[in-house]
Amino acid sequence: MKIGVIGGGAAGFFSAISAKESNPDATVIILEKSSKYLSKVKVSGGGRCNVTNACFDTKKLSGHYPRGEHFLRKAFAVFDAQSTMNWFTEKGVKLKTYPDGCVFPLSNSSQSIIDCFLWECRERGVELKSGFSVNKITVLSQGFEVWNGSENSYFDKLIVTTGGQPKRSGLNWLEELGLEVIEPVPSLFTFNMPENPVRDLMGNVTEETTVRIEGSKLSGKGPLLITHWGMSGPAVLQLSAWGARELHEKQYHFAILVNWLHEKKEEDVRSILDKEKSLFPDRKMVNQKPFDFTNRLWSFLLSKAGVPEQLTWKELSGKTLNRLVNILINDRYEVRGKTTFKEEFVTAGGVSLNEVDVRTMQAKKIPGLHFAGELLDIDGITGGFNFQAAWTTGFIAGRSAATIQE
Ligand SMILES: Cc1cc2nc3c(=O)[nH]c(=O)nc-3n(C[C@H](O)[C@H](O)[C@H](O)COP(=O)(O)OP(=O)(O)OC[C@H]3O[C@@H](n4cnc5c(N)ncnc54)[C@H](O)[C@@H]3O)c2cc1C
Repeated sequence: MKIGVIGGGAAGFFSAISAKESNPDATVIILEKSSKYLSKVKVSGGGRCNVTNACFDTKKLSGHYPRGEHFLRKAFAVFDAQSTMNWFTEKGVKLKTYPDGCVFPLSNSSQSIIDCFLWECRERGVELKSGFSVNKITVLSQGFEVWNGSENSYFDKLIVTTGGQPKRSGLNWLEELGLEVIEPVPSLFTFNMPENPVRDLMGNVTEETTVRIEGSKLSGKGPLLITHWGMSGPAVLQLSAWGARELHEKQYHFAILVNWLHEKKEEDVRSILDKEKSLFPDRKMVNQKPFDFTNRLWSFLLSKAGVPEQLTWKELSGKTLNRLVNILINDRYEVRGKTTFKEEFVTAGGVSLNEVDVRTMQAKKIPGLHFAGELLDIDGITGGFNFQAAWTTGFIAGRSAATIQE
């Protein structure tokens, strides 16, 4: 049995090793277009590689994928986050879990993951071929022919793991096989707010924030970071992932409403402000803050609500209080464009999951042709979920390709 793995990234290596583990007699060859293998693994997680998330309930785990949730829930029954941690640990990569569930190599270096993959390939005899960019697959009566423009190769089975494609044209060679492809759009980006004075608060982090898209049900929760360009942090990135398609349609021109107090409701905020007023009537509002904000954020929000700098709590009128309440829980910002989040970005869209049998990652229409990784219409939020999807689909694709006899 000769298996070709197209793409030498996370899913490609994982499926190749999984294929060899399942069937050591199979010939497994990774075909990589560039001169470097695993280049995204190298830069992932700021060079530390967030390999997975210690979320051991498959239902909860699959809830972190804006696209692919139901498909992955079935796949996680076969290979989940615990399986990932066991896999790396058994192969000698020590891991560390952080309080937010993110799992990194104990070495804090993505090189540990790369070394592990290269070592496994060497030990098991997985062959590596770089500089081979596949641009055509021909389905033969027995097996497949792959073509890179000047050279062809023949395989009994193929596993396609070419990763997220920013442009639909990058998927043409798969569409030519009659496979349905979902238009790719970016996910995991930060929001640009040109000219907005909030950017003067660059570096400010609020731990518990809710960000909603105006006129939509989409929201993101968690820390919010103000940047030189606008807003970032987990709340914004989550929102960019869940809203990837909708925001693309809006061409990244939309408005957000920030609740600086997480999910607090108007009545709660009013009662907190009233209490502050009765406890500290003579103190200046700017110096006496009732919330766990930085001084600069508090004074920015006061000024946005039209509270004069010298105003004491007892001088706060009903009208100004109303404005302040609104700014605290419904603070509106215009977003004009996006910036790629440099720590982790992915593509939503790719090969439609309708085309793929989750038990084998095989194309329903083309036996022997398997898929894994970000090439599929699967993407997760930040926190190790994207690699988890690559390991899970790679594991199933590799094992199935190596063991199913046509
Ligand atoms: C900066 C950054 C940081 C990230 N950090 C994290 C993180 O910490 N945790 C996390 O879970 N996710 C992270 N991600 C997302 C994660 O890297 C991807 O989801 C993951 O790499 C997908 O794996 P893949 O194997 O499907 O695709 P890729 O890793 O993109 O690999 C695809 C490979 O296929 C090759 N290829 C493409 N076309 C062809 C062709 N026609 N012929 C031959 N070869 C081809 C490519 O050159 C590439 O080597 C990060 C992403 C980025 C960009």
